[in-house]
Amino acid sequence: MEKYILALDQGTTSSRAILFDHAGGITSCSQKEFSQIFPKPGWVEHDANEIWQSQLTVARQAIKELSICAKQIAAIGITNQRETVVLWDRNTGKPASNAIVWQCRRTADICEGLKTKGVENTIREKTGLLLDPYFSGTKVKWLLDNVDGLRARAEKGEICFGTVDSWLIFNLTGEHVTDPSNASRTLLFNIVKGEWDKELLDIMDVPACILPSVRKSSGLFGITKKEIFGEEIPVSGVAGDQQAALFGQACFTEGDVKNTYGTGCFMLVNTGKKPVFSKHKLLTTVAWDIGDGMEYALEGSIFVGGDVIKWLRDQLKIIETAACSEEMALSEPDSGGVSFVPAFVGLGAPYWDPNARGAILGLTRGTTQAHIIRASLNSIALQSRDLFAALEEDMGKRIELLKVDGGASINSFLMQTQADILNIPVVSSAIAETTALGAAYLAGLHTGYWKNKKEITKNWIEGKRYTPKFDAEKHKRILTTWKKAVEATRMFTQD
Ligand code: ADP
Repeated sequence: MEKYILALDQGTTSSRAILFDHAGGITSCSQKEFSQIFPKPGWVEHDANEIWQSQLTVARQAIKELSICAKQIAAIGITNQRETVVLWDRNTGKPASNAIVWQCRRTADICEGLKTKGVENTIREKTGLLLDPYFSGTKVKWLLDNVDGLRARAEKGEICFGTVDSWLIFNLTGEHVTDPSNASRTLLFNIVKGEWDKELLDIMDVPACILPSVRKSSGLFGITKKEIFGEEIPVSGVAGDQQAALFGQACFTEGDVKNTYGTGCFMLVNTGKKPVFSKHKLLTTVAWDIGDGMEYALEGSIFVGGDVIKWLRDQLKIIETAACSEEMALSEPDSGGVSFVPAFVGLGAPYWDPNARGAILGLTRGTTQAHIIRASLNSIALQSRDLFAALEEDMGKRIELLKVDGGASINSFLMQTQADILNIPVVSSAIAETTALGAAYLAGLHTGYWKNKKEITKNWIEGKRYTPKFDAEKHKRILTTWKKAVEATRMFTQD
């Protein structure tokens, strides 16, 4: 009887379930979108029950589609949107409120208040993160302070806190657990010691009794209740989405890098067993712990990556589909002197400038739609270059290869531009679903479905390779223009 690993990929806009076989191939996949709730400008929430129900539905569908029985599922791996906060009643399992999503800016004032208290350095040293509403800690505090009676209930031990992985595992198994990659995004977890930190909990005013216990990323998190799939299945792999993608790309060695080109872009480099603290506002994060101690990554993110192409399609309406952007870009030999910095919501790493706003510069009477489209694609590659340069400087060594994935990585023009700008080969994985695959690998490693990392590395098959064509003169000109354009967006701030 052939066995499979079920990966639950709980994203920001949809829940997906994929069944992988031993070769790491996708045998069945099901996906369901769920509601995005925007109660006020800048606020983003999800209905935690809808997250769970959508995840359960797609898991059952994926199993049904392959016509297998639950006995054939060797293990379940979970990967999830990170930093999103759920608080629920330990006894009833009922959420105390909607989940506060990572994108939600409601705790900006709490962050400012903490900055004036001078705790930012302590937070940075212990968590590797910045004091920003993006992360979970201040969201937990906000809920405890703003949902009627919640703090008192929490202090009595009646409330569980979890990121989305914990919430799903609680529903699947009844256990209240998480893994260090997710814990490392909460502002409450000491990434050097690998434990929840009393001082951080005091700073955030969060009682320790609401925290999940932290298990290894590849290890037993719980066994599914029989009524869920008709069989008891171990949940044995968990990692936040970006760390899971790093694992799915088999970036196991110090210096291995991947960039995911989705709505935003996330570049992570494996830094091995030691946390590297950035001089360029990159984040230090736990990559995973697969049983022999924590491994770390440096991470940089761009807020507007592939989303700039969506903007061209939906707002400017100058392309019909995202895929058209490639053909249009190639219809001009260059961007005609146009630079585009899509700082729609500020700039991410290495700038972290929330006030910057986007700009298209260098327009002339001869500027065409294709020039703007080409400049938009260039902006994804150039922002990624800024991350890459920061990663290399923080690592103190050259990176030789970039592995890529995500929706926009199928754009060959973009990938070739990326290779040219970085002057290193850019390679995609033959299996596009690296995030779900990473979760599956973590789960399967624990149960012996895959023997070791070596076996997984063998499964990694190169998709497409883009070899750089480097022109030093052109390179210098492009980077100088880009720097000027970025500076312009930083000057043109919103009051
Ligand atoms: P997410 O997981 O963040 O929702 P995906 O990995 O599904 O994102 O990628 C979707 C993003 O990629 C969208 O922003 C879309 O505009 C962009 N995209 C999709 N196809 C292409 C393409 N061929 N060229 C450029 N961008 C693309």
